[in-house]
This record gives sequence, C-alpha cells and structure tokens, in this order.
Amino acid sequence: MKTDQEATSDSRQIPAYDRVDVSVLIIGAGAAGARTAIELADRGVDDVLVLGKRGHGDAHTTWARGGINGALGTHDPEDNWAIHAADTINEGHFVNDPEKVETVTKQMPDRLRELDEWGMAFSRTDDGEIDQRYFGAQSFRRTAFAGDHTGESMLNTLVAKAQELNIPYRENVMITKILSDGTRAYGAVGFDMDTGEFVLFNAGCVVLAAGGYAAIYNRHTSRDDENNGDGPALAYDAGATLMDMEFVQFHPTGMAVDESDPDWEPWSGRLVTEAVRGEGGRLYNTNGERFMKRYSPDQMELDARDVVARAIAKEISEGRGTENGGVYLDISHRDAEFIAERLPRMYDRFLELGVDMAAEPVEVAPTAHYGMGGVRVDAYGESDISGLFAIGETMAGVHGANRLGGNSLAETVAYGVVAGERIADRIDGPGGLPEEIINSVFEPHVADLAATAGRSGTYDVDSVLAELRELMWNHAGILRTEESIQAGLDQLDTLREKAADIRIGDGTDESFELAIDLGFMLTAAESVLSGALERTESRGAHYRSDYPDVDDDWQRNICFERADIGRMRLSTASVAPPSKAVQSALDSGYELDYHQLE
Ligand SMILES: Cc1cc2nc3c(=O)[nH]c(=O)nc-3n(C[C@H](O)[C@H](O)[C@H](O)COP(=O)(O)OP(=O)(O)OC[C@H]3O[C@@H](n4cnc5c(N)ncnc54)[C@H](O)[C@@H]3O)c2cc1C
Repeated sequence: MKTDQEATSDSRQIPAYDRVDVSVLIIGAGAAGARTAIELADRGVDDVLVLGKRGHGDAHTTWARGGINGALGTHDPEDNWAIHAADTINEGHFVNDPEKVETVTKQMPDRLRELDEWGMAFSRTDDGEIDQRYFGAQSFRRTAFAGDHTGESMLNTLVAKAQELNIPYRENVMITKILSDGTRAYGAVGFDMDTGEFVLFNAGCVVLAAGGYAAIYNRHTSRDDENNGDGPALAYDAGATLMDMEFVQFHPTGMAVDESDPDWEPWSGRLVTEAVRGEGGRLYNTNGERFMKRYSPDQMELDARDVVARAIAKEISEGRGTENGGVYLDISHRDAEFIAERLPRMYDRFLELGVDMAAEPVEVAPTAHYGMGGVRVDAYGESDISGLFAIGETMAGVHGANRLGGNSLAETVAYGVVAGERIADRIDGPGGLPEEIINSVFEPHVADLAATAGRSGTYDVDSVLAELRELMWNHAGILRTEESIQAGLDQLDTLREKAADIRIGDGTDESFELAIDLGFMLTAAESVLSGALERTESRGAHYRSDYPDVDDDWQRNICFERADIGRMRLSTASVAPPSKAVQSALDSGYELDYHQLE
C-alpha cells in the first residue's frame, strides 16, 4: 500500500512524504542484501523490498577482486570447513565468535556450488573444476575466484537471480533512520535521491546490509561515498549494540602514487589485490631486499594482512621506502599471459597508467580496507533490537581482530541465507506501525531533515569530511598510542561543532547525502577511537605502540552502546570457546607454507 501524505504538527513543519508498507525491508543491494532477498523469495516471502543508495547492481561488492573462500578442496583435498574455521579464528586472534565462523565455513562449499549453478564466471582448472588460489594466512588453496573481478561477477549473478525471482528493487534511496522504540524495529525513513522526496517505510522486519566503515580514513580502498559507516551508525542510533569497532584492517597493498600527478592522484590508496601476492608477487624495499624474510620467513608475503601491513609501514618509516611513500610489489617473474589471465583488471589498470606488471614492479603502501567491527548480532544475524537484522559487512563477529582475505564475500552469502531463513520462519506481513512511532520518531526526524536541506553555514561539507578522514588516519591508524588516540577524540568534538555548521544543498544535491553520511561517519569514528583507547594491548589489526603485546585478559570483545549523556558507553564481553572439531583443527597447527609457491 502506498499513499501520499502531508502532515502538520503544532510545533514543526512536517514535509510531504510517501509511505511504503512491506513485510521485509532490505537496506543494501550488495551481495548480502541480494542473497537475503533470494532466500526469502525461495521460502515464499514475496513482499520484500531491496533498496540501495545507487543504481541496480552498483553496490560496493562489485569492487571485490581477489576471491571468495570455501573449503572445496579443488587442489588440496585435505582441506575442510573446520580447518577453514581454525584459520579464520587463528588470524582473527581468538576474538571471533566461533559459532558465526562455523556458520560461514560450513556453508561455503554449498554456497560456491550454488553461485556456480546460477552462472557465476568462476575461473576453472584444466579439468573444469572451480579453481582455487592461495590467499594470505590460509593453510590451503581455498579462495575461489573469477579472475580478479570476483565481486562483480558474483553480484551480477545474484542480481540476475533476484530479477528472475521478480524481487522488487528500488534504486537511489538513502536511508537516514531506523524506526525503533529502542527494543523493536518498525521500519525506516529515507529519501529519494533523484527527487528529494521523503519516504516512510513500514516493515515487519528490517535487514541492514549497508556495508562497512573503512572509508572514514583518508587513504582507503572504498569509494568515497560508500563504506562510511551507514549500517553500524543506523543500528546504533536505533539502540543496537556495536562490537569490535576498533579493529580496522589496513590492507598491505594500496597503490602508492605521485599525488602531484593528476593521472595518478585518483588512484592513491586503491587496492592492489592480495591475489597478486597469491599468484607469487614479492615485496622489495628500495635496497632491493625481499624484506618479508625478516618478518615472516615461513609465510613471507602471504602472512596475515596485519603482519604484512606493519612490515611495509616499518620499512617505509625506517627510510627504505620509495619517494611516493611505498615499497615495490613485483610479479614480473610471471609472464604477461599468466598475469593477464589471472589478474586481468590489475594488469589493465597499470598498463593504462603506463606500467607493465609483467616487466616492472608497482608501488604499494598500506591503506584502510575493512572494518571488522559492526553490529552485534545473534547466531541468525538479529541485533538487540527485535526485527532489526544486520548482515554482511555491517555485522560484527566473524572476523575477530583481523579478517582473512576472501572471507567477507563468504560472509555475505552465508549470512544472507541464515537471516533469510530465520525471517521467513516468523514474518507475518508488514506489522502495525504504532502511531506513537510516527509522532515521536518519524515526524521529528523528517522535520529536522527538511529544515537541514538548503541550510547556510560556515563550512563546506567536503572539507569537514576530509578533516575527519585525516584525523582518523593520524590518530587511529596502523600504529596507535594513548596520547594520539585521546587527542583524536578531543579533535572529534571540534569536528562535531563544525559538522553542525555546514552549508547544505537541497535533497537532490550531493551535499545533502554527504551531510547525512558525515553524521554516520562521526558515530563510526567515535567508536573506533574509543575502542582503540580502551583496548590496552595489541591484537590483530589493532596495534598499540605503547602496549605492543597481546594481553590474554583482553581476549574479549568491546561493545558500544548509546548513553543518555556524553560519549558512548563501553563494556566488554567474553568470547565463547570453539567447538571440538575446530579446536582439534587448531591443535593440529595447519599453516600455509609459502615456499610451495616457488
Ligand atoms: C576494493 C575492495 C576489494 C575487496 N576484495 C574482496 C575480495 O576479493 N574478497 C572478499 O571476500 N572481500 C573483498 N572485499 C570486501 C567485500 O567486497 C565486502 O565486504 C562485501 O562486498 C560487502 O558486501 P555487502 O553486501 O555487505 O555490502 P556492499 O556491497 O557494500 O553493499 C552495501 C549496500 O548498502 C547500500 N547502502 C549503504 N548505506 C545506505 C543507506 N544509508 N541507505 C540506503 N542504502 C545504503 C549501498 O548502496 C549498497 O547497495 C573488498 C573490498 C574492497 C573495498
């Protein structure tokens, strides 16, 4: 049912808005959102709406390159789901939720076969099997891939399947608030980015599949307008708990470029996929030394991302980096045909910029890539707020303190199925949206938004966003100290004041979207900084120079909740032990031996 409404209240101007009633509202049209919708449709729930901030099929998933994990055992038959889980927990430094890790790793062989059946263009072995490559810190070759455009191929496949099932999608709608009374979700509020019209979504269940928060850093692998923390911030605002936000993955190999050169500048920080190292790429400093021998003689370039990123950062800070602030990544010992087949997009990108990877190295340096934290959810992806699910990159729990490459695409489809199944079991229509929620949550929010549109102010939104991203890089980057994090938190207060005084265009102007994103980013930034300050140890991607060791007492998750006044309320929660099967795989001590590659 849809009706146009115009409402007024004594104290505020409520703008006209559209109303949409659906059983399940899926916020996010990437792999996680699409797979949930497919599961719901398969289970007979047809009153579902999937929406995203961009055009159909244009979600961040399309940027995923190197691959997706699942213990198919194409090359290494001894691999299995329990060893996949053990690798995930080992490299997550034992703060992953073991149950969630199992949920993902047990399902993945089936999920990969299903994607294959639905037409995903997996790269194949000579005898037609789904090929699998090495990825960092994984004991066996278990990363399936479609060249180096795995995410694009995967999302195209999921979108085609969703279209075949006639699942309704809506493009270019930005969600600004979840309708909640602090215990239950009733829907969401958004606006149509093409027309500026506000929309009230009444839904029996809301699934947040809105991506992550790595783009709150100034050097990052995401698009500037994605991964700004919308998912976690929307859930937090609705009263849900966040977890593990301090764990931000810095990918070792982002492009290091001459930023004064306009051809190269836009590529600064962009991902050079781990698959380059998975296919044999080697790292050298400016002395020509293959320095990973000193940091990780067994796993070399394919040690976990946190280890390789810190090694590169150290080489650069100790003066063995290039003029562009990087080190060299060299795969020129492979021939051009091999590189073009296994890494086609990387090869073409560098060729267009005048660098032939088959003949010379490329320059790389660490870059913010992935937030391991997100919304704390139960085994089915439901948050503390009944009826509010959070899955894919928006959820926390699978990756612990450091994500294995290839595990996040895995998480999107595995949790899409789990959440879809759970919702299908209990959904019973759009549910009744209480008048009280319309009056006390929806109306004040749209009135505020409408008043914000076209506002004059002292600061330009782009400059405040840039300041925030620089703050995060400088104060919650690869190496952290109490003094620096505290200074970052103090500066965040000043930035909040600036954010309240920015110039904003109307509802169809990009500055309106960015102003809302800025609010989401401030929430994500505060949680990262406060978690980083709280965790007085080093674990995985979180490295405190003033507490350089792992502290066993900190084998806990930090949770972030809204406080009535002041900053976020932090608490900690214990981690459950792994199952017997996974513990036994951990005890067996499987480990990738890099030298098999040579
Ligand atoms: C460059 C790059 C390479 C990567 N390579 C790999 C890889 O090889 N293997 C791997 O496993 N992982 C990889 N990852 C990570 C992986 O791509 C993501 O974690 C995964 O695709 C996330 O999928 P998702 O469905 O959770 O979110 P996304 O694909 O990010 O989709 C989020 C959706 O939410 C929508 N949205 C966001 N905010 C709002 C809002 N406020 N209102 C409405 N809609 C909103 C967006 O428009 C989008 O539709 C890579 C990431 C990057 C950045």
